[in-house]
Amino acid sequence: MIYVCENCKFLFERQGEVFHCPGCGSAHIRPADEEEQRQYIKNRERAR
Ligand SMILES: [Zn+2]
Repeated sequence: MIYVCENCKFLFERQGEVFHCPGCGSAHIRPADEEEQRQYIKNRERAR
């Protein structure tokens, strides 16, 4: 599951439920939409 932080727009992937952003610690996170998931996968492939 890919999530996005509403506070800092950080995209991250986790197994199971997540309650806080690993970047800023905010609880304002939600599952990433399709566009954001594409962005996350693109970034991950570029980092490789
Ligand atoms: Zn955040």
